[in-house]
Amino acid sequence: MKISRYFTRNQMLGLLKTGDVILPGTEQSPSFSQTGCIEYIDRMAAFLSADDLTGLRILFSVFRWSPRWLIRLLMRMCAHNRSYPGFLGAGLRMLEIGLKGATMSLYYANLTHPDYQDEKVFDVIGWNPKIVLRESDLAPEAPSGPAVDYDNPSPDDVAAIYARARQAQPDIESWGVAKRLEFISRLKEIIIARQTYILDRIQQDTGKSRTDALTAEIFGTLDHLDYLEKKARNILADRKVPTPFALMGKKSRIYFEPMGTTLIVSPWNYPFYQAIVPITLSFTVGNAVIYKPASATPLKGLVEELLAEAGFSPDWVQVVYGAGRQVGDQLIDQRPDKIFFIGSQTVGQHIMRQAAEHLIPVELELGGKDPMIVFNDVDISRAAAGAVWGAFTNTGQSCTSVEKLFVHQSIYRRFMDALVRETSRLTLGTDPAGGADIGPMTTPSQITVIAEQVADAKAKGARFLTGTDWDGRSAAIPPMVVDQISEDMQLDQEETFGPLLPVISFTDEAEVVAMANAGEFGLSASVWSDDLQRADRVARAIVTGNVSINNVMLTEGNHALPFGGAKKSGIGRYKGEFGFYCFANIKSILIDKNSNKMEANWFPYTQKKFNLFTDLTTQIYSRGILSTVKAAVSGLKLESYVKKIAKKNAGNSES
Ligand code: NDP
Repeated sequence: MKISRYFTRNQMLGLLKTGDVILPGTEQSPSFSQTGCIEYIDRMAAFLSADDLTGLRILFSVFRWSPRWLIRLLMRMCAHNRSYPGFLGAGLRMLEIGLKGATMSLYYANLTHPDYQDEKVFDVIGWNPKIVLRESDLAPEAPSGPAVDYDNPSPDDVAAIYARARQAQPDIESWGVAKRLEFISRLKEIIIARQTYILDRIQQDTGKSRTDALTAEIFGTLDHLDYLEKKARNILADRKVPTPFALMGKKSRIYFEPMGTTLIVSPWNYPFYQAIVPITLSFTVGNAVIYKPASATPLKGLVEELLAEAGFSPDWVQVVYGAGRQVGDQLIDQRPDKIFFIGSQTVGQHIMRQAAEHLIPVELELGGKDPMIVFNDVDISRAAAGAVWGAFTNTGQSCTSVEKLFVHQSIYRRFMDALVRETSRLTLGTDPAGGADIGPMTTPSQITVIAEQVADAKAKGARFLTGTDWDGRSAAIPPMVVDQISEDMQLDQEETFGPLLPVISFTDEAEVVAMANAGEFGLSASVWSDDLQRADRVARAIVTGNVSINNVMLTEGNHALPFGGAKKSGIGRYKGEFGFYCFANIKSILIDKNSNKMEANWFPYTQKKFNLFTDLTTQIYSRGILSTVKAAVSGLKLESYVKKIAKKNAGNSES
């Protein structure tokens, strides 16, 4: 081995060992030690600072005496540095850059042979080089094929958009989950780094308060991406399932495969979260995505910009802008392999009808009229604070906002006092420092809905305890606590999607469950009681998709929990393990490995076979060891009978 000016012999041996772990070689390319690249070590070392040199010397000395499996384990930890907290993750990442960087520089140094010129050393060592590229190197890749207008696209443009997605899909599928997650991790880092910019863009489009934007849109999105990073590999891995006794000798598997090109349509209330969450979920499963945001809050260009920075090619996820009633039908007529829709019941039904024409699977996440039920054994001030947040966060423009508050009559007065006190404290505005509680309404059409419900309720005798100074037009709607509610009020029956909180008293459990179940929606609910058995009983009795006990809207805070509605609040579930399945073709596989036997249930059917099957059917599914033994005997009889027939048939066909 060459004598180095910078490293001892043992350090060089440590480097060789590490190099071979990182670059074990492939059929096309030599391993690290085979290239003889270590000869160039002084050339690399000459460029290193004294501290870097000392660091490498220490590491290579340690690796000289470490077993290869330990180095391999360390490199694996380095590759998953994002899963480790704070300084530990950063340390592992630095180690990865240092070791892989040093090894790679040497490897390249000797790849002068023409056969090695095109080697993608990054691929061999599993390292995303984009983490050391400059921003300018990450300019978005141009989309493939002829130019397409994504803004109010013509039918030809929509066809071209689908053609691109379909062309890109096999590639996305072929990489496997681990590689797709590299893009997800990169996206997560970019969102963390660019929070302020994203918050500005969300506030510009929606007018929501800065803290609402941060907690629901950025935090929620990062939490989802984190969940994907941690769980997707396991959830989407091929799964073994038991094979029953009757199929002895065979194996059963489940594969989770992409569906193809998915169309995602989202509403205006959480335009960032409702974009990134379903897009990344579908992409992680292996689908190309076409995404249509709401016209009121398109966040124009933002999703594309962030995805491009994360290394996504423009054809993997394409964003289409335009009024839903114009581009929506065209997007569905191109027959996506799955439609994932979040929005109103009316549009959801329209989409489902259209999808039925082509038998496209549809997932619908629709509206709600979510009840909050407060029993008389709660901490009143905590439950009132929860109700105020649940009803007015995001100015009430959440599908899971508290839209009907049921309070036990024995605490009604005290609870109302606390509720009014808490509500009166709320501040309206969009303070960029995050100091305001509630922003203005996002869309003029929703202001009209609120104005109509307020006028209707007032005309029918409702009492407004806060927010009486609203002029009926301004987007800055003060939060309103309302009581003396009757069933003929719009506010009692229809989704409000704004800062109105109707409060109703109840006397017993059965009554409140019946009231909570009375409407046509069933998205989410909350039950508050110190008696957890009672709370659980009520949670089970309410027909809905999600229930938080002694908290509000919190099922959404856990990405391991599925999300979706019952009744007219939707069809299907996303998020959590079930969420992956909403974008997957779940394929069943049964493997009959090297079997050379005829199956007993194949033709020919004979009376003897029928009788043997009758015995077997009864014995297999009866209880007790004797039945099992009898089943085994009948199984053997059947098998030998089938063999006899097979032999006879084979003899006949030969003659
Ligand atoms: P809409 O149903 O009006 O719109 C939702 C999306 O559908 C928008 O992107 C819209 O585009 C698009 N769209 C409209 N018409 C068509 C069409 N014919 N074909 C295809 N797409 C179409 O809902 P909102 O945006 O008003 O959102 C509010 C509703 O969403 C509420 O009912 C709320 O409860 C529900 N929601 C449900 C959630 C859940 O997870 N269950 C979460 C958040 C909201 P455009 O904007 O251009 O019209």
